[in-house]
Amino acid sequence: MNTHQLRYVKNLVVGCGLSGMVVAERIASQLGEPVLIIDKRAHIGGNIYDYKENGITIHQYGPHAFHTNIKHVWDYIQQFSDFYSFQLRVSAWIDGQAVPVPFNFNSMERLFPQFLAEKIQQKLITRFGYDVKVPILELRKENDADLAFLADFVYKNVFEGYTLKQWGLKPEEIDPTVTARVPIFVGRDDRYFQDKYQGIPLHGYTTMAEKMLEHPLIDVRLNTAWSQVKDTISYERLFYTGSIDEFFGYSEGVLPYRSLFFKKQELNHPYEQPTANLNYPCNYEWTRVCEPKYFLDEQTDHTVLMREYPQAFSLGKNEPYYPIANPDNNALYEKYLLKAKKLASVYFLGRLGDYKYYNMDQCIDRALCLFTQLLQQ
Ligand code: UDP
Repeated sequence: MNTHQLRYVKNLVVGCGLSGMVVAERIASQLGEPVLIIDKRAHIGGNIYDYKENGITIHQYGPHAFHTNIKHVWDYIQQFSDFYSFQLRVSAWIDGQAVPVPFNFNSMERLFPQFLAEKIQQKLITRFGYDVKVPILELRKENDADLAFLADFVYKNVFEGYTLKQWGLKPEEIDPTVTARVPIFVGRDDRYFQDKYQGIPLHGYTTMAEKMLEHPLIDVRLNTAWSQVKDTISYERLFYTGSIDEFFGYSEGVLPYRSLFFKKQELNHPYEQPTANLNYPCNYEWTRVCEPKYFLDEQTDHTVLMREYPQAFSLGKNEPYYPIANPDNNALYEKYLLKAKKLASVYFLGRLGDYKYYNMDQCIDRALCLFTQLLQQ
């Protein structure tokens, strides 16, 4: 790309992931204004990018199962794709077998003697009620001997090893909302999420992204990093979905992130795993293995596995995937936020721009809210 051709754009969006695409789509379709989106990667969609290979749609940056309770987000995203009705189920490899996670009554019955499973189930219902979620760090506060046994078992077999691999930290060392994403479930519901609306874009996320970007007022330039163009471009509004610390030249220090590395494997039989995701809290170096053909129920004679290896994030070496929420990091982020608030017409959003562990629906909701705020200015 010839950066000298770039001078003025009315709306500039940095990052062509979900957050950037939503804001661009709204500005083009609702305000009728031109938008330029740049992305340093060679493809659109950010981390929701997928591609079809030999009949299987591969989620390049890890499993993405869409779920939301926010009706306006669900209504919004339906404009760009039909959705295949998919409700994610996940297993964890515990004591040599794949059992449902979130850990629930079915998991207990697979792993514990019947009398013990029944006793614990009764106590859980008496203490918490039925069909409810209990975060592991809450369960660990219980004094009852049977509930304490359960808490220790689940802590050791589901959370401790996985969290050490994923974050390099013990479960109690990260923000409690992180492990609360995968609570103990008092009941038999084997689904990973209980949200009202769940599904996978029928023709994949990339096709949905193409539709979001279809408006003639949206121009996308790939292979274009912010650092390459920032001195040659002027704008009326800038929407920045990259790392907020990078935007400010790391002036307050580098915000910590976790990164990931994926290894793909092809197998010559139709299925390998009982569920789309199989987590390995206690074994191996990887955290989980995704078998993506489950997402759209793609019927093939072969299958593909994506093994997920967490890594430390290292500037310039790999990609920041997850912000690491804890009081120190949040305080550092607040310093950047103060700087951000002083900039007129620059808006930060997305997982990296807001330094928040957003799900896809939260990215959309955040971008839609930001657009509504713009309309009120
Ligand atoms: N987690 C765990 N064991 C599991 C699944 C999740 O310890 O089998 C913890 C771990 O700390 C993980 C967090 O719960 O980072 C959130 O899990 P989730 O599946 O939501 O992670 P994501 O899909 O966002 O990577």
